[in-house]
Amino acid sequence: MLRKFFYPFLLPNGLLCAVALLTLAQEPLPANLEPFLRVFPFAVVIIGLLLGWRFNRTRLIYAISLMLLTELGLSYFSSGLTGQLVFQSAALLLPLNLLWVSWFRERGIINLRALFWLTLLIVELVSWAGLIHFRPMLSEFWLNYSLIDLPQLQGLPLSQPLMLVNGLVMMLFIIRALFNLAAFEASFFWAQIMILAGFSGLGSQPLRLFLAGAGLILILGILESSHSLVYRDELTGLLGRRALNEALDKLGNHYTLAMLDIDHFKKFNDTHGHDVGDQVLRMVAGKLTAASGGGKLFRYGGEEFAVILPRKQIEDAIPYLEQMRQAVESARFVPRGKDRPQKKPKKRYLARLSLKKPLKVTISIGVATRNEQLLNPAAVIKAADQALYRAKKAGRNKVCG
Ligand code: GH3
Ligand code: MG
Ligand code: MG
Repeated sequence: MLRKFFYPFLLPNGLLCAVALLTLAQEPLPANLEPFLRVFPFAVVIIGLLLGWRFNRTRLIYAISLMLLTELGLSYFSSGLTGQLVFQSAALLLPLNLLWVSWFRERGIINLRALFWLTLLIVELVSWAGLIHFRPMLSEFWLNYSLIDLPQLQGLPLSQPLMLVNGLVMMLFIIRALFNLAAFEASFFWAQIMILAGFSGLGSQPLRLFLAGAGLILILGILESSHSLVYRDELTGLLGRRALNEALDKLGNHYTLAMLDIDHFKKFNDTHGHDVGDQVLRMVAGKLTAASGGGKLFRYGGEEFAVILPRKQIEDAIPYLEQMRQAVESARFVPRGKDRPQKKPKKRYLARLSLKKPLKVTISIGVATRNEQLLNPAAVIKAADQALYRAKKAGRNKVCG
């Protein structure tokens, strides 16, 4: 669980964030970075907008546009009390709007929710501008309001209300990432750290470099998510057929391959519905992953999985596969009833009663090792398939070599 959460959370976005912060914290910045940093923000805006458009990621487009708007606003109002108030307002409003945008579902650039937000954004900006223009002292008072009167809190880089809002937004981004482990979700958290570092004046570099860094983190998040989109199976989260084919191409001469197939899977679909069938698939994928020690697991297709055991002979592989078979057999699986719509109330009650009983799920496994007769992966897969067929014939819930 820890690994499952921390890997997509920390890599690559967290790493990029750390590198960017360490780079920008240097004073003065290395001279050879100068030309690069001059074009960097422009490149991020252009690449971000293009990627967002081509990959259908509205959130990226809105996030980049928000940061661009912030930068334009700040460079226009850069001096005097107005400049200071605009800066502080941006430190408050950018994270909040980014949070809102991150909660959008991908439904195209213009939809009701986005229109609502855009309208609110305009109202927000106009009223904020009015406040700063007509009531500058009042704005200053609230933006710098001291919530807690402690001497230790005097040295904060931003005023207390701004720190509070930025911290809250950061926490909400973590929660969001917890519920959705895609890299793009995690990247919002790291982008927010960059933004906060920028507003806090870390290393006294211009804010636009931090905003561009935040944009780059979001772009990387999209690329990373797209990688999963290509290589992972959506239902189970396992690596899919394309990843298997590439892994097979890279294999040396010593490996064992196993084909796994859920026994009587059609029965789950027929008696409990397709949704429960999908739950069974996810449950089995989870058990197999946990028990796969040393082997690489893939969803081959339908209710079939493949395991590659590099550098293993059949005898070494069988104990691992036995473990996987037992892990599924000993699982107590109770389907979630709400996934199963039923029309007649009486029947629904009965159906729920029957669903409460744990289902017994088993798998059969066929194994083959690469040798002088089985020279290429296709031949090994075929042999493993034949072994699987023998396992089924022999009564299922077995490993056959
Ligand atoms: P055996 O023990 O011989 O393997 O019997 P079986 O019922 O498992 O085998 P069969 O190949 O007849 O049935 C496989 C079924 O898997 C048919 C198909 O409807 C179902 N299936 C394939 N992919 C999915 C999926 O993604 N979700 C669900 N719910 N069912 C799927
Ligand atoms: Mg099958
Ligand atoms: Mg089957």
